[in-house]
Amino acid sequence: MRIEIIDPDRCVGCEICMLACVRRQGFAGLAKSKIAVHSSGGMEKGFTVLVCRACSDPPCAAVCPTNALEVRKDGGVNLISEKCIGCKNCVEACTVNSIFWDNEANKPNICIYCGFCAMNCPHHVLYFNKEWGKENV
Ligand code: SF4
Ligand code: SF4
Repeated sequence: MRIEIIDPDRCVGCEICMLACVRRQGFAGLAKSKIAVHSSGGMEKGFTVLVCRACSDPPCAAVCPTNALEVRKDGGVNLISEKCIGCKNCVEACTVNSIFWDNEANKPNICIYCGFCAMNCPHHVLYFNKEWGKENV
């Protein structure tokens, strides 16, 4: 499974994907979002969507000193929260800048590949690929 950004040009920066992610976890606000939308310089220059790409050989897991990020067979990682010591090595290592920090928990916001962001994007920027990586499971 993974979230694919199929047409970034269609993003209007509404942040509904972020809200959907946070609501899915039972929170309000945006601080616990596992997906981010950055302005590239206003409506004219568009927006960049950052989300875990479910790497098959994830560098975040490789640098974690406590093995708190467990590599999934179908791509990406699971956070084993109790093992995380909050060092932020994973944030630094992510090659697509898609590990965000939960200041309250002092732990990374790791995508759980639920697909809510993609399902709620009104502009069809995102696609929830349920089949991706299944051959490895
Ligand atoms: S797949 Fe789920 S956890 Fe991951 S960014 Fe989208 S809504 Fe959040
Ligand atoms: S912040 Fe937590 S999950 Fe990330 S590398 Fe450090 S111990 Fe591992």
